[in-house]
Amino acid sequence: MHAAPPFSLAVPLRDEDAYEIVPGDAGAGLVIVADHASNRVPDDLAGLGLAEVQFHRHIAFDIGVEPLVRVLAERLGAPAVISRFSRLVIDPNRGDDDPTLVMRLSDGAVVPGNATLDAAGREARIERFWRPYDRAIGATIDAAFSGGRAPVIFSLHSFTPVWRGRPRPWHCGVLWDADPRLPTFLLDRLAADPALVVGDNEPYDGALEGDTMYRHGTRRGLAHAILEIRQDLIAEEAGRAAWADRLVPILEEARRRADFAEPRLHGSRTGPVRDAERGA
Ligand SMILES: [Zn+2]
Repeated sequence: MHAAPPFSLAVPLRDEDAYEIVPGDAGAGLVIVADHASNRVPDDLAGLGLAEVQFHRHIAFDIGVEPLVRVLAERLGAPAVISRFSRLVIDPNRGDDDPTLVMRLSDGAVVPGNATLDAAGREARIERFWRPYDRAIGATIDAAFSGGRAPVIFSLHSFTPVWRGRPRPWHCGVLWDADPRLPTFLLDRLAADPALVVGDNEPYDGALEGDTMYRHGTRRGLAHAILEIRQDLIAEEAGRAAWADRLVPILEEARRRADFAEPRLHGSRTGPVRDAERGA
């Protein structure tokens, strides 16, 4: 266990509505991010008018991710930034100008509390949830630079095994845009396990302008990737333990690599990178 945050952050460790930072070592060389960790909706939003059952589905959050991220952070001694709001409230893995930021419909379910949201309501959600979470990631990355190297950014998500009636063949997928460093490494290490079917930019393409990895990885030139794990594989503790055993040595190796420790701008397949900056 890490008793105290060994690096100083420009933001509090926790925002009741928006995020929690699991503190880690500045020298860990790694920051873990969980955009869709939570299915929580604050009471004043009245469950967005949805039935409770919807908040136990993948449309509300990435099943299995939060407990797995906590295990990874503890075993690796690395900081993790965990969202504390459902993606149905606002999706932190979208740019703040993205039309799908607040979903009116998700996988066939109308979201009544979003259907009539006006511009002011949308801005209020950005200010209350999206911005604090975004700042928490930025501040955690800034603090990680104090370890003397650029951190690797590892984002964990999970996906539903069946989409629009079709089973998905992958156990996991590595999503990425243009920086090949961490994605190629992860694909190589994961594909070495004959038990796994590993998707390369599957179930979806990782190039999305304005998403979390774009804002904090692509723009800053940090080695980064999203790993998506099929949610049924990490829904229970035994499955998460097996995935932690698989991922810890891979991430241990990644954070020691010299070629991942330097900011390098690789651009984006989505077009010219807005606000690109190098390093801290
Ligand atoms: Zn997700």
